[in-house]
Amino acid sequence: MKNVSFSAACCGMENMPRHYRSEDLFMALCRECSNYGANWACPPFGFNVSELLKKFGCLYVFGAKVVNPEKAVRTSGTYEKSVAYTGRIFKEVKSALSGLLLTLEERYPGGLGLSAGRCDVCPACARIDGSPCRFPGRCRHSLESLGFDVAAISENMLGTRLLWIKDALPEYQMFVNGFLAEREDDEIMKSIESYLEGIGS
Ligand code: SF4
Repeated sequence: MKNVSFSAACCGMENMPRHYRSEDLFMALCRECSNYGANWACPPFGFNVSELLKKFGCLYVFGAKVVNPEKAVRTSGTYEKSVAYTGRIFKEVKSALSGLLLTLEERYPGGLGLSAGRCDVCPACARIDGSPCRFPGRCRHSLESLGFDVAAISENMLGTRLLWIKDALPEYQMFVNGFLAEREDDEIMKSIESYLEGIGS
């Protein structure tokens, strides 16, 4: 993949700094989002998030930093055009990283892959019509939907500050995915690094 660099890190759930997760803050933000109650990957959930997280001892995170070409930044013009440009990249990166989530879940049973953003497997989520998820095996929650502060995690664990689209394309974009594992295991990090090396070359 062009103009993309990857990074990965892990943090024990017990020692996780308090500011990496705030369920109340992110639930309030999720309520303001159009995907709230309209996408099965997003809240409200039919399970207790804190209870779910008790099953896991370690959070692995991996990010893809996509540097936008200078010309695209210069000519992006409006928020809408920037979002459209980002959407294409987001799809490509998300699809590359979802392969890693599936690989990790298969290799390390009991773990749970966390995607970036809402689930976009279907053009329109079945939840909008009140129907069950069409592909539960492919739907993954995001870090933020479980209350994790992706901005703090990206900056502190992956060394990259998140940049947001305002009225133009930012210099770069960062896409952060995660994997909750029952315990810390060097083999998991090796698997992540080797996969990222493979898609980065
Ligand atoms: S797989 Fe389809 S129905 Fe299920 S959460 Fe994703 S978009 Fe919605």
